[in-house]
Amino acid sequence: MNSIAPLHAPTKIFPVSNGELVVGGIPLKNLVARVGRTPFYVYDRNLVTRRVEELRAALPTRLKLHYAIKANPMPALVAHLASRIDGADVASGGELKVALDAGISPRDISFAGPGKSENELRQAVAAGALIIIESFREIPLLADAAKALELPARVAVRVNPDFELKSAGMKMGGGPKPFGVDVARVPELLRTIGEAKLAFEGFHLFVGSQNLRAGAIAEALRKSYALITELAASAPAPVKIINLGGGFGIPYFPGEQCLDLTPIGTTLTGIVDEAAKTFPQAEIVIELGRYLVGEAGLYVTRIVDRKMSNDELFLVVDGGMHQHLAASGNFGQVLRKNYPVAIGSRMHAIKAEVVTIVGPLCTPLDILAERMVVPRAEPGDLVVIFQSGAYGASASPQAFLGHPPALEVLI
Ligand SMILES: *Cc1c(COP(=O)(O)O)cnc(C)c1O
Repeated sequence: MNSIAPLHAPTKIFPVSNGELVVGGIPLKNLVARVGRTPFYVYDRNLVTRRVEELRAALPTRLKLHYAIKANPMPALVAHLASRIDGADVASGGELKVALDAGISPRDISFAGPGKSENELRQAVAAGALIIIESFREIPLLADAAKALELPARVAVRVNPDFELKSAGMKMGGGPKPFGVDVARVPELLRTIGEAKLAFEGFHLFVGSQNLRAGAIAEALRKSYALITELAASAPAPVKIINLGGGFGIPYFPGEQCLDLTPIGTTLTGIVDEAAKTFPQAEIVIELGRYLVGEAGLYVTRIVDRKMSNDELFLVVDGGMHQHLAASGNFGQVLRKNYPVAIGSRMHAIKAEVVTIVGPLCTPLDILAERMVVPRAEPGDLVVIFQSGAYGASASPQAFLGHPPALEVLI
């Protein structure tokens, strides 16, 4: 491939001063010195706060906003979010611990995911969290745990709907899926839950992730709510929680634009108003991961080498796919595209050369930017990858090739 990669939409998320990127008010080189080494992830707490505020302003007040810890489980970040959101969604016993440690009330924690272990189910009952049932298998296990612990097993049902989220980056509902229970079997599941005397509280749907089309998200929310309204007729107890998922995306690649929250806000206002009549006891919840934290994070690496091979210029940096799998294009992408990348120590310099930026791993998969135009940079300069606050460190094969794990800082 000899063509030059297309350019990204400009991002103004992080300011520039004296030719240096500024993160959380700290010039990048100063931040690197403070952290002590590269590579590292940095998350800006004020950007996370601002994100939550923007969402609250665009969405109905009575809507509950949950954080899906899978997107970024860094304990300090989860603790920062804990007082700003209404609850958290966890998908393992480990994430349940992170949520509880951060001070999130168990009442507002929901535990989803296929293949939960017997021990994880017992932990969730003991904690008093809401368990999102994904399989008939979980019902007797929860009944046993509730009996042994003399505690209620709070449950909601994850529905695998008969529709898909159009244009989602990752589809997680509709058709054959390991997640949730197919719509057709939900009435039977609800009966079994009633017979097992579990504490039924509601429904959960999550149809897909990383969607930038507001119209498609709004349509999925409407269809999800309508489906839950139908299924509620078979519920063994009043519906107290309706979790409609989310899947709000952020722009990563050339040509992508920020999600327009307006139509989503209008749709959710309609749903919340409707639910106030139909399900007067119910909380309406959306759960977001990437959208809350993705844009607030950077991955910072340092150039180790600058070398030519057959007329192509390579910058070799000290971080790579082992710490940032998604930026290398190996985390579910079909075609490799460049994340937004900058030379954070030369922000004012004129873009002068085409480079391919690679990591230190001995594999051709370790590419962080392919044929991108950047200012001339030398070993010692800092290469920054934007949009790195979600599915970064914890979603990467950090042991691959035996380099140390990435540092993570919240500033
Ligand atoms: C992954 C996941 C999320 C978070 O998805 P984002 O795209 O990061 O917002 C939310 N809920 C469930 C059930 C998930 O599996």
